[in-house]
Amino acid sequence: MSAETTTPSPVASTMLKSPAKSDTGRGSSPEVRAIVEGVIVDIRERGDEAVREYSQKFDNYGPESFLLTEKQLAEVMDRVPQQVIEDITFVQEQVRNMAQKQLESLSDFEIETRPGVHLGQKNVPIQAAGAYIPGGKYPLLASAHMTIVTAKVAGVERVAACTPLIQGEMPDATIAAMHLAGADEIYLLGGIQAVAAMAVGTGTIQPVNMLAGPGNAFVAEAKRQLFGEVGIDLFAGPTEVLIVADEHADPFVVAVDLLSQAEHGPDSPAVLITTSEELGRQVIEHVDTLLVDMPTKDFAEPAWRDWGAVHVVETLDDAYTLADEYAYEHVQILTENPREALEKMHDYGALFLGEGTCVSYGDKVIGTNHVLPTRGAARYTGGLWVGKYLRTVTYQEVTNPDSSVFFGELCGRASRVERFEGHARSGDVRVAKYRGDKLPW
Ligand code: NAD
Repeated sequence: MSAETTTPSPVASTMLKSPAKSDTGRGSSPEVRAIVEGVIVDIRERGDEAVREYSQKFDNYGPESFLLTEKQLAEVMDRVPQQVIEDITFVQEQVRNMAQKQLESLSDFEIETRPGVHLGQKNVPIQAAGAYIPGGKYPLLASAHMTIVTAKVAGVERVAACTPLIQGEMPDATIAAMHLAGADEIYLLGGIQAVAAMAVGTGTIQPVNMLAGPGNAFVAEAKRQLFGEVGIDLFAGPTEVLIVADEHADPFVVAVDLLSQAEHGPDSPAVLITTSEELGRQVIEHVDTLLVDMPTKDFAEPAWRDWGAVHVVETLDDAYTLADEYAYEHVQILTENPREALEKMHDYGALFLGEGTCVSYGDKVIGTNHVLPTRGAARYTGGLWVGKYLRTVTYQEVTNPDSSVFFGELCGRASRVERFEGHARSGDVRVAKYRGDKLPW
């Protein structure tokens, strides 16, 4: 492959491999937006009937009820091998520990700013959340740990959770993970219809206050369009990985790790930024070889061909700057001193520092949350964490009459500058009541 020099970025880089397709930019494509809008409008109007029709159309599944019964759940739990149950339990404990620590980092407080003037802040859990667990291509049971366990640590009372059938089959391990995580209702429903049903409610599904969880482009866009009517955790669409590597990295490991994320789907980009042209060339060779007999090559090969890129840059500082421009979901640092990226980078969903860990650990087992921002959303949000299920609310109380008079006079002046006479009068009445002044109107 011939090297070419790119110009759009302020960072000069030589591209050893360019994507075959050109990116459509941030957020969702116009085609996806239009499809999602139509389905949401229809579900809002026709409820369960429309949900059933779309599930039949997109997933070939249209039962009377999508709710998993107690009997079905018991049968699933009997079928799941003990080792799988033990592994799910272990990983959920890791996720729970992390969420618990996050919860402890959030403190409610109250300050007294003047005598008898109390200002406070509380973190209050959302009452009902909808968790989406993807299942179109793979039974992504780890998403159950991330969304449901974290919601329960936050104190969410009702968690409704949706996942589609996988190629027409009951996704046993996913259902087990949803149940063990603490889901209160489990629906065998996927895609736009699942997200819309949970958000707007139907005859059989009570609406939730907030949606969480990752998914394909349709799921991410459905959440985005429903935001405002319900809360959402973040824009978490098709997976992205970016690796920053220097000459100390093992090219075989780099290649394996790039493909570990490209296999998510044909729309999952994998990008390498390296200071070593030699390493870049070796990684491309390894990727090509690995793809030959990769069991998931149907997804990984087009992902690499269409969206894969290899940049060579002069310095690691250039690599960090370029990586920040991508603002990718997962950023892996395979350099001699990986921890320096903690100081030097700022736009990413999650960082994976050094060869000892990898994105797959984060995706499946280690305990940090894998629901992460995609398509540039890392510029304004981090990933799912316990705080996303909490509302930070404030309160105030004034128990000292002199302090109320002080703020009453100030409120009168400040409100009249803004021409808010009604606001001003709320201050005036307190000044009159607590200090005996005559009302000025
Ligand atoms: P999914 O459950 O997200 O989507 C499957 C559903 O999409 C189906 O049930 C179907 O109803 C719907 N659908 C499929 N084609 C459609 C079409 N043409 N029109 C309308 N609806 C359609 O499962 P998936 O497709 O396997 O995708 C999972 C995604 O989740 C992957 O892209 C993966 O990269 C991503 N992911 C993201 C994160 C993150 O944090 N950002 C984490 C894990 C996974």
